[in-house]
Amino acid sequence: MDPELGPARGIRAGLPGRAVAARRSAGAAAAGVVGSGAVRFLSRCLRVLLDVAAVASLLLAVGVGVLWVRGRDSCEVIRHVRWWEEGGRGVLRWYAVESSAGGVAIYRASLTPVAPRPDGRLVSEGWRVNRVVGLKEYPVLHLPYKGVHDDPAAGLRGYNGRWRGFQFARSVASSVGGYTREERTHLTMPCWAWLVAFTALPAARAVAFARRRRRERSARAGLCPACGYDLRATPARCPECGRQPAKT
Ligand SMILES: [Zn+2]
Repeated sequence: MDPELGPARGIRAGLPGRAVAARRSAGAAAAGVVGSGAVRFLSRCLRVLLDVAAVASLLLAVGVGVLWVRGRDSCEVIRHVRWWEEGGRGVLRWYAVESSAGGVAIYRASLTPVAPRPDGRLVSEGWRVNRVVGLKEYPVLHLPYKGVHDDPAAGLRGYNGRWRGFQFARSVASSVGGYTREERTHLTMPCWAWLVAFTALPAARAVAFARRRRRERSARAGLCPACGYDLRATPARCPECGRQPAKT
């Protein structure tokens, strides 16, 4: 401990007992220094992770904003398509983001042949962007059923729940075009709902940052971080609100 800090200040402020207390707490701090150091390191890691997640979330919010504007007069689909071979069969799978008419859907779909095909050796992977101007259709509402839908004769099993622009749908069609099994999972939400979801964390981080800045500023000015009372005479404990500012 730096003798210039803490105890000297306490004595000057007319609290001679504080020097003893400070020495005692310094010993306790030395014993717990490994534990508190690890805790501080972990909490700093957590803070960095949260900040990275907040930035990513903010970028996603910007992306939703762009899709919202572009989707007013068009339907846009961004897909990552992968087509690979599995036991002599070409399996097609894609992940997609689809936007139109104030909503954005994310979905995953796959087509798996139930029997090997002669052209099953096709293997490709890549991004595709499709844009259809003038289409007013809400994303992925072209699914042909609503609610729980099981049709064993048609080989279809699925669920399609919709509520005010929100939609969750999942379907498995065991035979499409005679030879494929098709699987789809969709989640659609209105753009405003995506924006709320993606701005929540950045907003919380901004509030936490502002609060920390304010605490640090009042600590530097010798004020109570809770109520702003001048603590230069009593740095250990605020006589106004009883708060004990953390020692820095
Ligand atoms: Zn106070």
